[in-house]
Amino acid sequence: MTAVAPPAVAFGGRFARELSELAIPWQAEEAPEPHLLVLNEPLAAELGMDPDYLREGDGVRFLIGNLVPGGATPVAQAYAGHQFGWLAPRLGDGRALLLGEITDADGHLRDVHLKGSGRTPFARGGDGLAVVGPMLREYIVSEAMHAMGIPTTRSLAVVATGRPVLRDTMLPGAVLTRVASSHLRVGTFQYARATGDLGLLRRLADHAITRHFPGAAEAEQPYLALFQSVIAAQAALVAQWMLVGFVHGVMNTDNMTISGETIDYGPCAFLDAFDPAAVYSSIDETGRYAYGNQPLVAEWNLTRLAEALLPLFHNEQEQAVALAQESLAAFRRQYSAAWSAGIKTKLGLPDGLDDDVASPLVDELLSLLQAAGADHTSFFRRLGAAARGHTAPARSLFTDPAAFDAWAARWSALGPDADAMDRVNPAYIPRNHLVEEALDAATAGDLDPLSRLLEAVTSPYDERPGLERFAAAAPKDFGPYRTFCGT
Ligand code: AMP
Ligand code: MG
Repeated sequence: MTAVAPPAVAFGGRFARELSELAIPWQAEEAPEPHLLVLNEPLAAELGMDPDYLREGDGVRFLIGNLVPGGATPVAQAYAGHQFGWLAPRLGDGRALLLGEITDADGHLRDVHLKGSGRTPFARGGDGLAVVGPMLREYIVSEAMHAMGIPTTRSLAVVATGRPVLRDTMLPGAVLTRVASSHLRVGTFQYARATGDLGLLRRLADHAITRHFPGAAEAEQPYLALFQSVIAAQAALVAQWMLVGFVHGVMNTDNMTISGETIDYGPCAFLDAFDPAAVYSSIDETGRYAYGNQPLVAEWNLTRLAEALLPLFHNEQEQAVALAQESLAAFRRQYSAAWSAGIKTKLGLPDGLDDDVASPLVDELLSLLQAAGADHTSFFRRLGAAARGHTAPARSLFTDPAAFDAWAARWSALGPDADAMDRVNPAYIPRNHLVEEALDAATAGDLDPLSRLLEAVTSPYDERPGLERFAAAAPKDFGPYRTFCGT
């Protein structure tokens, strides 16, 4: 695929055309003085876009929706959502626009989307804007997730708008250019269902099937197959979050995709000390979205998706509910299978290892980690060294080294594969203190710490000399860490 200037890239408006009830045509606000902060060149190449063009002038204006390519019909998408358990029937893109879809180098349809592009009819009390720090946070974390092989929306660029935005203080405004296999959310289905228009609900489900699970179209019951595919995708996704210690922070149903990609990096964080009760979001007072709750919340959200889809499962409500429940029961099985396989790989153990041996070993390890408050990422990476005979670094993370030694002797007797461990246990993640450091510097105009952090986390498994501080835990005086929504 040859790279061309985006105005020459063929933009489609498929969502806007097929689902016009869910799409309000809208324009991005004009930015007074846009300039590029960061551009994802490999992603630009995947999309067939010329990175040199994107760096300045019209290219930058394209990235924030101020130069709309022919064929693109920017729209604000409608969706509902359960926020912290309460239904908000009309959320929608209050500060975002779907520019349109393009076909990537692999022939897949990708959404190009803008976040922070100005008020829309869904803005309610909000200003429609976003600021540099949180948009760069989404860029860093989503690209780190991608590098770890975790399905996610991608970040193409962050552009500073030159417009000051009022938060606690005045902060520099920014737009994130986001790319996703779609922006269909559980909340999109909730919105469509609430309109009472079953034709719309069916069209939305058909659209989701074509874009994400074409195999479902061949099933005896395509809409049930769609639902089952979303369950499988989310079970696999959340297992990956748990294995890497990712805390999404705001798993509202509007922030859960149908594709199984991670979306909406707001108050997210990575575990430092291993603790199932870990919460970083300042507004999550009850710990609803705590680290250890994430699988349960995913299942709860999928139950809301089932409710939205019920009329497509069966004409008789009772039968529809029975079908939904039967499908939902698979979530726990699939999640557990994915997590168990994943944790065995993290420990360098063969997937075929008997659960009678693996389960007690894993359970005991998690208790030890929790009791010690050991750094999640450091522990698993150092355990790779332990598999090569260097146990001291892992051992030093424990308050009760004798208990770790006893555990390690049993584990070591199983012959763990150190190289396999290094391929799944990242050395570099976007550690909370490093992210804050990079965002503070970028907000003040210095982009160097951001570049260095991106360099580390986009090759997370390849440990390199000179990057030691990116693998180290936060300094003692950092924290307790708090993250914020609505930024
Ligand atoms: P989020 O917490 O980012 O998932 O957003 C939840 C809802 O609030 C969505 O409908 C957003 O579009 C909307 N929203 C968040 N921030 C703003 C803002 N500054 N202006 C307008 N709408 C916003
Ligand atoms: Mg959201």
